[in-house]
Amino acid sequence: MDLYVARHNAGLARPLLGGTVLVLLLASLLAFFFTRSFSRRVSQIRAYAERLLDSPVLDPALPSGDDDLGLLARSLQRTAPRIRELVESLKLEGSRREAILVSMLEGVLAVDKDLRVTFCNQSFARTIGARLPVIPGIPLAELVRDPGLREIMTTVLATGERVERRLTLAAATAHSFEVLAGPMGGPPSRGALAILHDVTELERLERVRKDFVANVSHELRTPLTAIRGYAETLLEGGLEDLQNNRRFVEIILSQATRLSNIAADLLSLSELESSGATAPPHPVSVRAALESALRTVESAARLQGVTLLCEKLEDVKVIGHELRLEQIFVNLLDNAVKFNRPSGEVQIEMRSKNGKVNILIGDTGIGIPSEDLPRVFERFYRVDKARSRAMGGTGLGLSIVKHAVEQMGGSIKVDSRLGEGSEFTIELPTI
Ligand code: ADP
Repeated sequence: MDLYVARHNAGLARPLLGGTVLVLLLASLLAFFFTRSFSRRVSQIRAYAERLLDSPVLDPALPSGDDDLGLLARSLQRTAPRIRELVESLKLEGSRREAILVSMLEGVLAVDKDLRVTFCNQSFARTIGARLPVIPGIPLAELVRDPGLREIMTTVLATGERVERRLTLAAATAHSFEVLAGPMGGPPSRGALAILHDVTELERLERVRKDFVANVSHELRTPLTAIRGYAETLLEGGLEDLQNNRRFVEIILSQATRLSNIAADLLSLSELESSGATAPPHPVSVRAALESALRTVESAARLQGVTLLCEKLEDVKVIGHELRLEQIFVNLLDNAVKFNRPSGEVQIEMRSKNGKVNILIGDTGIGIPSEDLPRVFERFYRVDKARSRAMGGTGLGLSIVKHAVEQMGGSIKVDSRLGEGSEFTIELPTI
């Protein structure tokens, strides 16, 4: 009986097992196809998302369907143009910022909370003499040895406040900078950004301006005091002093002449500096300007017993202004006569070669000490102040000459031997 049941059961189990296997097989087959299609759709979406950032054209084919994946694909497709727009505008913004930073004359430096350099532009690297590209993450202390800049950045990081300070960086061959530093982001990962504006030239100009104003005031004060003093003396009885009254008036006249010389020279300097106001430069004859200047100083030379020796002059033309060129020669010739010895000589030579003309004005005068030579072209600089003033000098003549020569694209140099004489050489481009 038991045997029968067993046999009967075995007969039933076989088809059942076969069915189960078939179902399992079908299920695995279905699962396989479903997984394959699913993973294909997922990779399509992934590829689409990746292409979204860098491919110029978007792949329009995205899996469809009403399931979650299909919904995801559709929503991705819908937002894709917006994402593309955002990415493009970010790229544009990035390159715009890069271009601004590269072309900026100001140095830009950014550090993180640990004072490590996160960014610096070319100008900053050049300023401190660092090699480009500067490796991001380098400690600021390694890049800039000066403690000043580190102190500023540390203060900004600690306080989160803007710092504005003037700084001299030894790394930048003692250039002065106006540093404006501020925080970037908030704590705990606050960084700091500094902009360095080179003010060395500005400081120099400021110094020059102050010195100039002080010098002008000083130069004006002396003749004005003398004029006032002698005028008062005359009024307080000097007019009746028949022995001295003429001398007092002569002093007033000479001091007034000096004042008008200073005013004329200052005017020349200011005209040279604002060259835009004058007429445009044009071809002018060097010979004509020199001959006219020689006529101007002739009588002073005769009075001093100085001989003007001028060889035959070539007729070359330069680009400039007649009056300016004549003023250059008058100033040099006047000095050559003034600072000469009795019965001395002034020699004028002209040589032109290779598109340049050299005009030499040499004298047999007192000469200039070698330590003063580099400074004689400075405004109001005189080797012997008293002697220069006594001769009606303003101390502005040579600075006017240098300015005018350089404005014509030329140069001037001086050679001198104390007690033997000086030689000024002007070089100008010819046409
Ligand atoms: P100044 O009005 O005193 O002549 P300049 O600017 O023309 O002013 O010259 C500056 C100074 O250079 C003079 O005061 C003088 O000391 C010196 N100097 C200029 N030319 C000569 C020269 N030919 N010989 C000697 N010293 C000169």
